[in-house]
Amino acid sequence: MREVFGENGILALVDGRFEPREEQSRMADFILEALCDGLGCFVEAGTGVGKTLAYLVPAVSYCMENDRRLWVSTETRALQKQLLEKDIPVALEVVRRLTGREFRYELCMGSANYPCRRRFEALVERGEFHKAELHWLEELRTLIDRGDPVTRFNTRMPQSLWSRLARESDACGMFSCPFSSNCAFQVARKRWQQADVLILNHYLFFANIASGKTYLPAADVLIFDEAHSLEDIASDQLGFSISFSDMMDIAERFHRRGRRKTVLSQIARESLRKKAVAKHEAFFAEVQKFFEALRAHLPGDKLSWRLREPLRTGPEMLAAYREFYALLGEIDEQMDDDHLRTEFEIARSRLFSSAQALTAAIGCEDPGWVYWLERGEGELLGDVRVKGQPVDVAEVMAHEVSGSYESAVYVSATLAVNGDFSYIAGRLGCSSYRSLLLASPFDYLKQAVLLLNREEGGPDGESFAADAARLSAEIIGHLNGNCLLLFTSYKMLESVRERLLSLVEHPVFAQGEYPAPEALERYLESGNAVLMGTHSFWQGIDLPGDLLRGVIMMRLPFAVPDRPPVQARMERLEERGENPFYAFQVPAAVLRFKQGFGRLIRGRNDRGVVAVLDPRILSKSYGRFFIKSLPECTLVHTIAEMKRVF
Ligand code: SF4
Repeated sequence: MREVFGENGILALVDGRFEPREEQSRMADFILEALCDGLGCFVEAGTGVGKTLAYLVPAVSYCMENDRRLWVSTETRALQKQLLEKDIPVALEVVRRLTGREFRYELCMGSANYPCRRRFEALVERGEFHKAELHWLEELRTLIDRGDPVTRFNTRMPQSLWSRLARESDACGMFSCPFSSNCAFQVARKRWQQADVLILNHYLFFANIASGKTYLPAADVLIFDEAHSLEDIASDQLGFSISFSDMMDIAERFHRRGRRKTVLSQIARESLRKKAVAKHEAFFAEVQKFFEALRAHLPGDKLSWRLREPLRTGPEMLAAYREFYALLGEIDEQMDDDHLRTEFEIARSRLFSSAQALTAAIGCEDPGWVYWLERGEGELLGDVRVKGQPVDVAEVMAHEVSGSYESAVYVSATLAVNGDFSYIAGRLGCSSYRSLLLASPFDYLKQAVLLLNREEGGPDGESFAADAARLSAEIIGHLNGNCLLLFTSYKMLESVRERLLSLVEHPVFAQGEYPAPEALERYLESGNAVLMGTHSFWQGIDLPGDLLRGVIMMRLPFAVPDRPPVQARMERLEERGENPFYAFQVPAAVLRFKQGFGRLIRGRNDRGVVAVLDPRILSKSYGRFFIKSLPECTLVHTIAEMKRVF
């Protein structure tokens, strides 16, 4: 690795802009050693270490020398893009010079990103498209006929058309499908099988587990970049979330009044057809009543409601489900149209899995799971979802990762709390591992001013929103815009935004007012603006140089303790005799806090201010965990001091 990362090494020959960094070289050495020893490892590498090449080069070299397959999984599309366009081409050349071999790599996407030839042909044959959509279909046919692994990103067709011909994993006949020799997904899959390195995302990693590991070709070595988000993604992907609209989609796959050819309307035997339509209507009428009852159950000002005891409203719906489901066996024997049979099978299997999940939630069946009702923030009268997920994913992770691969490497800019990896390792079920903590090579003392507010009052006080708006306006004014304001709730964001608008002249773009990507786009287009966001803005936003001069965090980012999954995790820790505040809430908040802080300095020439307006960082004893988790910056406590030093 030193031959690669050292001064005048292979990397310097391959990439003219390469600057040797001690941290990068150490990380590559460390990863190679862990792989050779067949061990899992955690690496926290601050911004600027060059972590992507520091894991790619040793991992790919190891896999090439030992005939292993590597998966690299990321959370965001932005990192995947960077890997594919920037880092992999460099790694390819480095590994070629180092080992004399070239590796093959492929990007793997989830099922719905590939077109299904069978659905495509059925749609065309049945004429189920508008005239204006014809040119999209012709374009797609040409692409598929070329034999390329076509994805939705190769066409600009509208989502409404794409969703009618995208691959559906539960409807794919794979090799028994008559279109399999002319199918873009099969082409992609063949390439995956021949590749040495597969690039995927964490969602697909867990979807592959849920599919019984049949979707992706097996791997030996795993790298999780952006590993800080794995636990949340695992919980979501291994759990379920069912709304009234989801159930209505299933209903319509069976039958919809007024539609000419539906699965149920094509049953040849009239008596069975009538009976099936009646049972279908009866069941979905019960579904409607059930969700109406849930809406009433969830008080208007609440976003979620934990289900702790079996629900009284579900049994009628489940009884109607059983009657309808029992009839499906009889219908099965009557289906002779291939297309309708496939539609029927999909509808039946989706109905079955949704009913299983609803049954579990209604009965609060599994004590290892948390079940709850939820509606999206900002849509207080919107659709209610029934949700469920395992309280603890550590066991699943221990079995599916630590126990199933030769080595797993977890990498991120934020994994350690107070220099220690035991929190994240415990959450991810990893009991035996090595770890390495590498600070960012940037000079934070020169590049960043850290303003810790010590004004009286706490973030729950009445005047906090007004104070926060006033302090933010002063910082924004001094930095002449290009500031990111981070919140932990929409409610607080709204109340600060209202006040801020009259205090600053800079344009303000807020999440909620616009979808997150649009708010970011408008901020970039406008220049010298203010961007306000909640959860997704704390991580993954990359605004280098002058695009961001200030990051203002309103509150320390503790997870909302009355959110059911958070509540359930805390209760689980209490049962084990641990203090949930220090064992879970503080470390989780510290990791998010580090992510928020990391938005500011993205390069050696970046300068800026990070302000924490929540005075608890100084007044509470746990505040020290947050402060200690940051690199050493120029510390100030008042706006006047900030103005003087920045
Ligand atoms: S193999 Fe699967 S994805 Fe391909 S055309 Fe057939 S059903 Fe569709």
